[in-house]
Amino acid sequence: MSPSPQIHDLTSWLPQGAEPLIIAGPCSAETREQVLQTGRQLARLSQVKVYRAGIWKPRTRPDGFEGVGEEGLKWMRELKAETGLQLTTEVANPHHIELALKHKIDMFWIGARTVVNPFSVQELAEALKGVDVPVLVKNPLTPDLKLWMGALERIHKAGINKLAAIHRGFHYFKQSPYRNAPMWEIPIELRRLLPSLPVITDISHITGRRDLLQSVAQKALDLETNGLMIESHIDPEHALTDADQQISPSDLEKLLATLIVRERTGSIDFQHKLEELRTEIDKLDGELMQLLARRMEVVGEIGAYKKENNITILQLKRWKHMIEDRLAIGMSMGLDREFLLLLLELVHETSIQLQTRIFNQDRD
Ligand code: PEP
Ligand code: MN
Repeated sequence: MSPSPQIHDLTSWLPQGAEPLIIAGPCSAETREQVLQTGRQLARLSQVKVYRAGIWKPRTRPDGFEGVGEEGLKWMRELKAETGLQLTTEVANPHHIELALKHKIDMFWIGARTVVNPFSVQELAEALKGVDVPVLVKNPLTPDLKLWMGALERIHKAGINKLAAIHRGFHYFKQSPYRNAPMWEIPIELRRLLPSLPVITDISHITGRRDLLQSVAQKALDLETNGLMIESHIDPEHALTDADQQISPSDLEKLLATLIVRERTGSIDFQHKLEELRTEIDKLDGELMQLLARRMEVVGEIGAYKKENNITILQLKRWKHMIEDRLAIGMSMGLDREFLLLLLELVHETSIQLQTRIFNQDRD
């Protein structure tokens, strides 16, 4: 994809000295107390410059909590008057934009479910004509960079040049520890194509769980993100939406204190190549684990078979032959002899342990 000529020089609108920009607040505004109490605590953290809260919630099924609507905007406005925090909320149709403008919301974000639909994005773009409000565009649910860029371009063409992208991870059909797989190579490619576009990483929707937030935040910073979006709730366990991934403001404070903002190093091309190679390593390690797991399964089957036939676990002749055979294969592929020996012994020892457990089953 060729670089889009329209989007340029956008970093200037980020609040002064606020890089990395930290946007924090609950997934959803729920009650006046929850909005105000969460916001007051967040306002005490010097790094937090923008308060987020969802007012209209896109839900998979119709019976869930769908947000408090306009009432919530009044609570947010009250919070801003009290703390000075800037405000952002999700807008998904022109009516949302109208209400958010009426209540002086400072920035809008467009959610992942809206970005997948160019009709909806175009409708938002029309409604944003003549409006001077920064717009943050989340990546679409699917790993489709063109769709993401298309949405940014539509909004930009409507005259919005205070733009940023939000990386919130992608639906992924394979097993992954994340709620939405980060696929870092995609935001990196976006930055390569649009170098002046700020990118903010939504670590809450990437991870879907509290225990992974810190590592993903640090990784995002190491990849030179311009900011983090983090869901924070005064009582995360009882949040009406996304309870598993929200953290209290005090836990957010601890998390932020652990983060290291490093000197910017390397060109985008360097990072891009590095990330490609790392992705390759991640894939290979995954395959290695699958092979090892499959190998242990077969070892278990052999163990059960030996037991049935009353044959000893350790077959020295076979083991000696295996070592020689594997060493020869491995060394012919350029692998170090000592490394191979260590690895083979470890694998063998673990296999014997497994078979011993199988032999001892039902003995007591
Ligand atoms: C959110 O930020 O609460 C949200 C609904 O996000 P996304 O559109 O990324 O799922
Ligand atoms: Mn959420």
